[in-house]
Amino acid sequence: MSTSNPESSPEEDNPESSPKEECDPSNLAQASNFEFEHNVHESLPSDWQAEYFSAIDNLENLFPISDCVFAIPSMQSPMQVYAWSSAVGNPWPDERPGMRGACICGDGSGSWMVLEINADEFRYDGLHRYAVIAHEYYHVFQIARSGDLMKPVWLVEGGAKTFEELFTRTYYGRSEFDNGLFPVTANGLENPAVFEDYVNVEGDQNYNFSSFMVLALIQELMSQGNVSEEQALKLVLSDYWSNLQGRSDWRMVFSETFGLAPDDFYGLIQKYQSEASPETYYSGDVVAGEQVRGLMPSRHITLEDVAPN
Ligand SMILES: [Zn+2]
Repeated sequence: MSTSNPESSPEEDNPESSPKEECDPSNLAQASNFEFEHNVHESLPSDWQAEYFSAIDNLENLFPISDCVFAIPSMQSPMQVYAWSSAVGNPWPDERPGMRGACICGDGSGSWMVLEINADEFRYDGLHRYAVIAHEYYHVFQIARSGDLMKPVWLVEGGAKTFEELFTRTYYGRSEFDNGLFPVTANGLENPAVFEDYVNVEGDQNYNFSSFMVLALIQELMSQGNVSEEQALKLVLSDYWSNLQGRSDWRMVFSETFGLAPDDFYGLIQKYQSEASPETYYSGDVVAGEQVRGLMPSRHITLEDVAPN
């Protein structure tokens, strides 16, 4: 039941009035308005809580969430973060039933961050209890920069895995880079393209294979072009995601950003060798340890060195 007058629509004649076109995800001056609301449960030790708030501070400073996020209908500010220890059940069963694990979860109309911290990680001093903060935060960074074009999955998750290991190395002095991301399961070598859509646990334990692909891409950028290790990391961790803004074909953006088509890159991945696992705690074939260890980021590189600027 509407009446319209086709002769009076002055706004449409002025494209400069469209706010969407003004959003540039690579402009750090337009990245200060998105906020998180922190629901940190008392089941978490106070030193974890202190590390959590310090991590969020550092991450927001170095990798700010682009204001382009406000054009994404399912992303609202402030984003709720729910953090608790797995020693207790979900402390917010009425507000958010069924929460478990770690994710940026959503129901189509809203999104929130879930950080269920595995209680074992306190007993064994597992750095994953901090790394997971950086991992999930980085997904929000990717969503905002890309306009929620989260593809391919291996670059989404491999980027987040690489980011979280750089984070723990920077702030805690050690990371899974120290043991060459072992195990990088070899069954991904056969057809890396399957990881574009779905990263399964068997083919990619803890996203190690996806991170291996990311590090192999960085190595390739360094050997092909005139880019430093820091620049290559920035291309993969930040530039690719902002280049996706307003686009729909991630393959084209991948080729433009890296000067390499995805399928050509997969051909390079397939050239890596596999070997039987040298460790008794993991059985099965893995990507050759010597080759994988050669891809680990240089020790001196910190998160600050690879932040967008
Ligand atoms: Zn993830």
